[in-house]
Amino acid sequence: MKIENEKQCVSCKKKFPIYEDDIIFYGKMKVPIPQSCPDCRSQRRWGFRNQDTLYKRKCDFSGEPMISLYSEDKPYKVYKEDIWWSDKWDPMDYGRDYDFEKPFFEQFNELLLSVPRRGMHQDGTNENSEYVTFGVGNKNCYMMFASFYCEDILFGTWCGMSKDCVDCRSCFNCEIMYESYSCEKCYNCIHCYTCENCQDCLFMDDCRNCKRCIGCKNLRNKEFYIYNKKATKEEYEEVKEKLLERDLAEEEKKFNKWKLQFPSVNLEMQNCENCTGEYINNAKNCKVCYNMVMGAEDCKYCQIAGWQGKDMWDCTTTGKECELMYEMHATLTSQNCAFCSFCRFCSDTYYCDCISNLKNCFGCSGISHKKYCILNKQYTKEEYEELLPKIIAHMTETKEWGEFFPLEISPFAYNETQAQYYFQLKKEEALEKGFKWIDDQIVDKTTANNSCRCIDCSKPYKITSQEEKFHKKIGVNSPTQCFECRRKRRAKLVKLQTLYDRKCDKCNADIQTSFAPERPEIVYCKPCYQDALIN
Ligand SMILES: [Zn+2]
Ligand SMILES: [Zn+2]
Ligand SMILES: [Zn+2]
Repeated sequence: MKIENEKQCVSCKKKFPIYEDDIIFYGKMKVPIPQSCPDCRSQRRWGFRNQDTLYKRKCDFSGEPMISLYSEDKPYKVYKEDIWWSDKWDPMDYGRDYDFEKPFFEQFNELLLSVPRRGMHQDGTNENSEYVTFGVGNKNCYMMFASFYCEDILFGTWCGMSKDCVDCRSCFNCEIMYESYSCEKCYNCIHCYTCENCQDCLFMDDCRNCKRCIGCKNLRNKEFYIYNKKATKEEYEEVKEKLLERDLAEEEKKFNKWKLQFPSVNLEMQNCENCTGEYINNAKNCKVCYNMVMGAEDCKYCQIAGWQGKDMWDCTTTGKECELMYEMHATLTSQNCAFCSFCRFCSDTYYCDCISNLKNCFGCSGISHKKYCILNKQYTKEEYEELLPKIIAHMTETKEWGEFFPLEISPFAYNETQAQYYFQLKKEEALEKGFKWIDDQIVDKTTANNSCRCIDCSKPYKITSQEEKFHKKIGVNSPTQCFECRRKRRAKLVKLQTLYDRKCDKCNADIQTSFAPERPEIVYCKPCYQDALIN
């Protein structure tokens, strides 16, 4: 692809290229070339997403106690979900005129501070799952985030259609899984990573169609393998029994060291046509994307998106049938929108937050089923069409037009958000950039009666009775680490979204990979990796 232009990122000061296809897309969206590089743009969107830092507080409407993404000391009005969605209050009461003397983001921040906010981002389709955020259709789940159609999941993130899993991330169509990530159609597995169609396995990395194996990497279609070597049924049972008696977090460290002697593939991609990026399945023409699924087409710089999405640049966590969108966070079934956070069923809408069923709206928060609104104020079609170009001209002058909301006006502290997961900052670094920070983020994570102390951070933590039951069922000891340390440990195993240029460690071909050059893994290009598989 032809590089048209090279820019210096205003945030990280690194140079970044603007390609021919970027220019075409910006033209279609009628937006200027962005001032920040793709990573800084993604960091900004993730910085608006607190997904799993929960607090106990009161609903500012009813005074009822609630679990919320907002701590009590936040300067926002926070409502319980059922009240937020009801007609007991009207977001249009907070409408205001656009002030051409002030930067737009300053005005929008004032609007955010006055319009009540959704306490939990949980819709009415979850059952017995109070501690679930961004979830749809879940049942009996606890501390589970951004997951859909799951049952009996405890401590899970980005899971779908799975049942009976504990401490898992990105597991789809799985059952009885423990401490696993990025698995598909697996059953009864413990500490398995990037596996598909595996059963009764422990400590496996990048294996497919394997049964009753322990401690293997790059294995295909095998049964009774231990550390990549053929074993007997009896040996499998003996090794498994001994392993389950130990501290599995410690065993994981050993396994991670052992597996370094085998190559890893540069990018996880399946069924893709003309794509670059990490964890991409069934996609076409998607470039520099991370975690794209289910028929995404013509997308660039997107993260955790797809679902028949088309023509999207810089979209983060986008669901089902979105088209022609730019710099969006948390979107469902919308078209021709840009610079919004939490947007469902909208079209031709810009710079909005927590909105649904809007057409031709600008700079609104918390409203739904409206047309031609600006800063929560109703206009006629003619008034709207006259005012909008003036606002765009004003924002062009203030250098705001074409940029997502700055992180300084995010309702959350940097370390409460997913930005801290993908782009880790130290407290001083975050504060220096003008981001917010909180020192003690864990208020109440569990509800059970027994209490333990974490071997890593020595903070007390609890194990719920539901968790205990699960541990007993699969025969493992209770974890020695607290929820936070478990999550941090797993996070280190998951490949992040930044891509690096490297050479294949076998054939020296130029490759792109999310393994940073300083990491210890042997990284192969796809053909070399295919040759190295144990078939
Ligand atoms: Zn940058
Ligand atoms: Zn800990
Ligand atoms: Zn190679």
